Amino acid sequence: MKKFKTESQKILDLMINSIYTHKEIFIRELLSNASDAIDKLYYKSLTDGISGLAREDFSIQMKVDKEARTLTISDNGIGMTEEELDKNLGIIAKSGSQDFKANNESKEDINIIGQFGVGFYSAFMVADKVDVISKAYGSDEAFIWTSNGSDGYDIKKGEREGNGSTIVLHLRPDTDEEKYSTYLDEYEIKSLVKKYSDYIRYPIKMDTTHYKTVGEGEDAKQESYLEEETLNSMIPLWKKSKKDITEEEYDNFYKDTFYDNENPVRVIHTSAEGVVDYKALLYIPSHPQYNYYSKNFEKGLRLYTNGVLITDCCKDLLPDYFSFVKGLVDSELTLNVSRETIQHNRQLTKIAENIEKKIKNELLSLLESDREKYLTFYQGFAVQLKYGIYENWGRNKDLLQDLVLFYSYQEDKFVTLKEYVDKMGESQKYIYYATGKTVEAIKSLPQCDIVRENGFDILCLTDDIDEFALRMLGTYNEKEFRSVANSDLGIENAESPVENKELTDFMKEKLGDKVTEVRISATLKNHPVCFSTKGELSMEMERVLNGLPDAPKEGVKAQKVLEISASHPVYEKLQKYFAEDKEKAEKLTEVLYNQAMLIEGLPIESPTKLTELICALL
Ligand code: ADP
Ligand code: MG
Repeated sequence: MKKFKTESQKILDLMINSIYTHKEIFIRELLSNASDAIDKLYYKSLTDGISGLAREDFSIQMKVDKEARTLTISDNGIGMTEEELDKNLGIIAKSGSQDFKANNESKEDINIIGQFGVGFYSAFMVADKVDVISKAYGSDEAFIWTSNGSDGYDIKKGEREGNGSTIVLHLRPDTDEEKYSTYLDEYEIKSLVKKYSDYIRYPIKMDTTHYKTVGEGEDAKQESYLEEETLNSMIPLWKKSKKDITEEEYDNFYKDTFYDNENPVRVIHTSAEGVVDYKALLYIPSHPQYNYYSKNFEKGLRLYTNGVLITDCCKDLLPDYFSFVKGLVDSELTLNVSRETIQHNRQLTKIAENIEKKIKNELLSLLESDREKYLTFYQGFAVQLKYGIYENWGRNKDLLQDLVLFYSYQEDKFVTLKEYVDKMGESQKYIYYATGKTVEAIKSLPQCDIVRENGFDILCLTDDIDEFALRMLGTYNEKEFRSVANSDLGIENAESPVENKELTDFMKEKLGDKVTEVRISATLKNHPVCFSTKGELSMEMERVLNGLPDAPKEGVKAQKVLEISASHPVYEKLQKYFAEDKEKAEKLTEVLYNQAMLIEGLPIESPTKLTELICALL
């Protein structure tokens, strides 16, 4: 028996136990080898002008034998001579395919997958003995290479009809942890081929069980029979030319592959050549999948190289704010040995950058060309986009600011920031916004009155993240955002006509820390009181921040200003009480404070106490 060359023994153990995370990938590796072997022969037939070899004649056959516990993969490719068996399978990390590529470098159209010379040995993850029966093209001698993976290998003369290689895996016995017999299951094999090797360019065939009815009437029964089936679909949709693909085909592929029952709002089918070569097929869903906003959700795109699946979910290809995008990338990346991670991250980064731009442009174009469809999409993913503006200290705000919409008070529909700003007149200093649970709630806010009376529109923010996103943006087109609850609205004639320092000081003293200031409002018209805030933090932000799971115990606090309307009858009352009965004035102050809390939708300390106060004043 020949020993494996180099430190093969060690490498083999390492391989079997650590390179691959999933044992099932041996199928991908062996099918890739078979495909390479056919490619080589096909290529040779073209360059050497061999006649009689048609593309249609090439195929890969799979066979299971449950009794013998064997799985066989056979190809009619270029095959191996005795010497090649010895060299290619006897030296671990020796890739005949890599040599082939190197020798045929300048010639185009070689799409050979192999390059590391280790994939073959993945067979030993599931088999304790492997036979390779091979006959090189043009030779009339076949050889059989046999190994149990650990001690070494034997090469003997063998028998094989026609050129090509047959790999016979003698599966390991089942254990409690590992049921190797699943690889004898027709259904399992079919789904693994679909998963990893669906786009191998030659048909992968297997005899599969079918059923037919025999007999008639009462004697009718189901009988099984075997029929050859092609397990792979060979030509990937994304490698076809756009003009040959119907919208329905695109949609069906999406629904089947990504388990959605609704059509996507946009399909992006793109390719690039140059620094990096790739094809990408991306979909923008119409709604979030069931776990999208949960911890279990994993973003990412499928990654293929040369039509072979490398990973189901390559995270690096998508930024978080576009995590809803589904799809795949097929590229000739340089892979590492296990094909599980990508070695040259730079290539991947470049692809990710291109893809990000593509997605942004597609979303913008959808927004411009089909507002209704965009809104369908936006309903589901607005929070994600707005979060994207906020996170990473606003690093991506420029990219995202034109993709977000807010509800317009004036127009009663969603508008973009650009649409809002384009409408602003000379006299309008800020982009106004108001926060609340619903648009209706916002519209009844007293703070909106003065802004609306001046004819300015207000963006109605109803998501928790909204105000944070706008604060992160700071400005749009050099226009600053300003909450209607801010004590400075930048509106002329908004100076308070009345001042009553004695009264407001008294009220502030009675309310203590609950407010920062009490003042007579310039802006309040129809409501007796409301809050405004000073400084960075709004009341909405206070509510959101204190509601977070990791909020500090003492909480954060917005600087509330209690504003009193000078034109409201209650102000007269207040003045009267203040002059005649300080105790009553204090009670009314307390009631007004609680009213302002209620208008803001904030919880009041004690409803009972409030009712008592009101009764005492009546
Ligand atoms: P790689 O595919 O990365 O080159 P493998 O370990 O998968 O490495 O295979 C080692 C080498 O064995 C291949 O490069 C190829 O030369 C040869 N080989 C493997 N399988 C076959 C096959 N079915 N037909 C012909 N040659 C094969
Ligand atoms: Mg290989």
